[in-house]
Amino acid sequence: MHPAATRSSQATIEQFGKYVIPNYKRYPVCIVHGEGTAVWDAEGKRYLDLFPGWGCNILGHCPPKVVKAVQKQIEHLIHVPNTWYTEAQGDFAEAICTRSFGKAFFANSGAEANEGAIKLARLHCGPQKFRAITFTNGFHGRTFAAVTATAQPKYHEGLGPLVPGFRYAPYNDLEAVRQLVDDETCAILLEPVQGEGGVNIADESFLKGLRQLCDERGMLLIFDEVQTGIGRTGQWFGYQHSGVQPDIITLAKGLAAGVACGAFVCRDHIAPSLRPGMHASTFGGNPLAMAAGIATIQTIEEDGLLDNCRRMADRFRQHFTKLREELPIIKDLRIRGMMIGVDLAIPATPAVAKCMERGVLINATHDTVVRLLPPLNITAEQVDEGCSVIATVLREMANEAG
Ligand SMILES: *Cc1c(COP(=O)(O)O)cnc(C)c1O
Repeated sequence: MHPAATRSSQATIEQFGKYVIPNYKRYPVCIVHGEGTAVWDAEGKRYLDLFPGWGCNILGHCPPKVVKAVQKQIEHLIHVPNTWYTEAQGDFAEAICTRSFGKAFFANSGAEANEGAIKLARLHCGPQKFRAITFTNGFHGRTFAAVTATAQPKYHEGLGPLVPGFRYAPYNDLEAVRQLVDDETCAILLEPVQGEGGVNIADESFLKGLRQLCDERGMLLIFDEVQTGIGRTGQWFGYQHSGVQPDIITLAKGLAAGVACGAFVCRDHIAPSLRPGMHASTFGGNPLAMAAGIATIQTIEEDGLLDNCRRMADRFRQHFTKLREELPIIKDLRIRGMMIGVDLAIPATPAVAKCMERGVLINATHDTVVRLLPPLNITAEQVDEGCSVIATVLREMANEAG
């Protein structure tokens, strides 16, 4: 048993059976402790975590500077409503906006950030312009507008009627977007790299074309950077790879290294459209999340983690490129920073349990894609360890597939 555990994994699993709504598919393991790129279960087994917190733990588990910042903050203030000013919220807003643009609003999750951005776009463009165009295989969250924006039928089943005013276009298809835009369209919303949809990277010409279209038609260009933001791709924000300036970016996941925090950032001239009274979030911008967020940005900067992210991306690429030459079941390799997709010719889901048995945590998405979201501070040794296990598992799967 791990010293942080008070009972077996099995005992906790039985408790969940009685008291927790069973809407998540969970692996039969109770995690009790994490440190950097490793976690331990109640039985004391160690796992290399190449998918920490679904991308939220962008610095791995319990990064020391974030832990200290939260400890220090919690002695003074846990929560203060937005009827007051706090130093922490000002400092975090400054840290984000000086690395991107404009002004920030704080929420608690990715879905909430997107809801706010959609409201802001409608408010800014006036009552005649309310439609948003979003993209097939995108993912924007589970609240009603966010799930409507998520153009994947499997997430809509049984939920109707959805929120009116959304149209869907194929990703990277500028002409299709042009066809869908009308005088009632206020926004185009997309991920610069689709995460859940299988690590699909937007073409630069596509993003430039969307920018131009938005300028011509008076629409806002919104990038959902919930997954690509805050260093994940090797730049502070995903849009910075393209030279395309969006009007709004939405953030969450890694924003405060695993403490719940969401935000959106908009260009200065748009900010006044979010009039007082039109939008709010009770927990948004709370001092704990802000302190964690400031420490996250400091850690990335002081430890040179954007650079490490790019170097480790090259290392993953080398490993998987070699493996692809060996294994024809690997169809495609899509990597941007610490967003890694290995697209297979066979279902990817069995790889997750097989890697877990061998002590490595990964994810499978969009049926055939092995997905990794390693922390920005992963080491070369950990990359090698993880890739070696994944290679063993994919070889085994290739053999089984014949
Ligand atoms: C995870 C994710 C969301 C939803 O975030 P929640 O915090 O779960 O609401 C939205 N957009 C993208 C791109 C995501 O990856």
